[in-house]
Amino acid sequence: MALMITDECINCDVCEPECPNDAIYMGEFIYEITPSKCTECVGHFDEPQCVQICPVACIPVHPEHVESRETLLQKFMRLKSSTP
Ligand code: SF4
Ligand code: SF4
Repeated sequence: MALMITDECINCDVCEPECPNDAIYMGEFIYEITPSKCTECVGHFDEPQCVQICPVACIPVHPEHVESRETLLQKFMRLKSSTP
């Protein structure tokens, strides 16, 4: 599943550097997650790093991007092979 950041985000800046896929970026008002880059940390860590560190728990599963672990692993492999 790709995750998403809700408008409860307080722009504390701690999640962005923790993402192993560079999926988190500062949007117009709050931080956002690029669904095509978020593997829910599958391939890197056992737990989503952004969720672990977020102080206000505002990073749920994106309802439009529910994916199986297998799909996430395939995404991880795809991202890995496209990294120079
Ligand atoms: S779950 Fe992992 S890959 Fe997805 S945005 Fe959070 S830190 Fe990045
Ligand atoms: S850790 Fe949570 S509150 Fe902080 S910037 Fe990331 S999403 Fe927003």
